[in-house]
Amino acid sequence: MSARSITRSQDLFARAQQVTPGGVNSPVRAFGSVGGTPRFIDRAQGAFLTDVDGNEYVDLIGSWGPMILGHGHPEVLAAVQEAAAKGFSFGTPSENEVLLAEAITARLEPLDEVRLVSSGTEATMSAVRLARGYTGRAKVVKFAGCYHGHVDALLAAAGSGLATFSLPDTPGVTGASAADTIVLPYNDQDALRAAFAQHGDDIACVITEACPGNMGIVPPRDGFTNLIRSLTKQHGALMISDEVMTGFRVSRTGWYGHELATEGYPEGPADLFTFGKVMGGGFPAAAFGGRRDVMAHLAPVGPVYQAGTLSGNPVATAAGLATLRLTEEIDVYSVIEKAADALRPAIASALSEAGVPHVIQSANSMFSVFFTEGEVRNYEDAKAQHSEGYAAFFTSMLDQGIHLPPSAFEVWFLSLAHTEDVLDRIVAALPAAARAAAAAIDAGQ
Ligand SMILES: *Cc1c(COP(=O)(O)O)cnc(C)c1O
Repeated sequence: MSARSITRSQDLFARAQQVTPGGVNSPVRAFGSVGGTPRFIDRAQGAFLTDVDGNEYVDLIGSWGPMILGHGHPEVLAAVQEAAAKGFSFGTPSENEVLLAEAITARLEPLDEVRLVSSGTEATMSAVRLARGYTGRAKVVKFAGCYHGHVDALLAAAGSGLATFSLPDTPGVTGASAADTIVLPYNDQDALRAAFAQHGDDIACVITEACPGNMGIVPPRDGFTNLIRSLTKQHGALMISDEVMTGFRVSRTGWYGHELATEGYPEGPADLFTFGKVMGGGFPAAAFGGRRDVMAHLAPVGPVYQAGTLSGNPVATAAGLATLRLTEEIDVYSVIEKAADALRPAIASALSEAGVPHVIQSANSMFSVFFTEGEVRNYEDAKAQHSEGYAAFFTSMLDQGIHLPPSAFEVWFLSLAHTEDVLDRIVAALPAAARAAAAAIDAGQ
């Protein structure tokens, strides 16, 4: 079907593999689970990516979340250019850092203070260190299928089971650094209660994605977030809500604001939050923050060390500030939600028409499509989907000029630039992709 030439991407991929492991600087970009050649992107504008061969794609990756305004928004570009003209990095305090911290703390009431860092990984790593320093305890509870960046202690996602000590999921993470990590199935209240009954006095923190999006979207059910809150409180542990993906994307106040408005927080909000992606506007900026008495344990005020040469970088913070400001000025969130509302039924009907089992789960405008039947409540459910179906679906969409995330476990990221005509292009590509998925699933059975 593909009439597109991709020879320059093929050349670059071959050269990249000589000088970079797997040819990529982040594993999912290698197309390992979908097959084919990753497209080397030359430029992006609005909702579109253009590869080095000149092929254009509707972009549904959005840099994995940050590009909520679409690519190259003129006002963000102007802010970046203005900041860059004044200097790239100072290694001293600068005004943008204050403005960005003020913009973030103004949006979420539980945030008294934030510390800026350069990646989501750094944010969660630092938040966990702070929780351990604050409590004087070692153990960290995380949930299988939740991704918090590639922090050693948080890569342990294996060995589900009830409060079993997990083994590291990856070589290079020592048993010692994983031994203090307890991995539990998401949305499993009994497992969480049992872990606290057994280890309550040793648990420094529970870290959770505010609404998991890294195993596909798996919303918390039946007060799960509030149970985390009440158990941590009861046992003197901290709760870390990881909003690196959801923060400033699923609403102006992230998943925090959504839950506050729906379930409320009878036992109070999380102690610490982590952010990244949207708040950097496509540049490396991330943050962690929370209550003042907890944040006061951080150097230079307190003893818990944390630092960064490029933290609060003036260009990155300018991009983040402009992005956050624009999400207030334009009603980005309702525009994107409308786009998601238009797209979801079109996806569902194309898949139904072709007889592909599927379920679409959402966190406001963020949604993911699982090639499986029935509700997906945790990682086990998510892993039961037909990944070969997704690979065929992905490849067909790509051939038709629609660039989905190259993994069945990812969100489809929309932006302000995904206007009706862009959505029409996506919808037009769905039937053929759905038939390709159906054929692949049939062949696999
Ligand atoms: C992307 C992500 C991270 C890691 O952020 P990086 O900037 O890639 O290090 C952490 N937590 C969540 C929930 C994420 O989605």
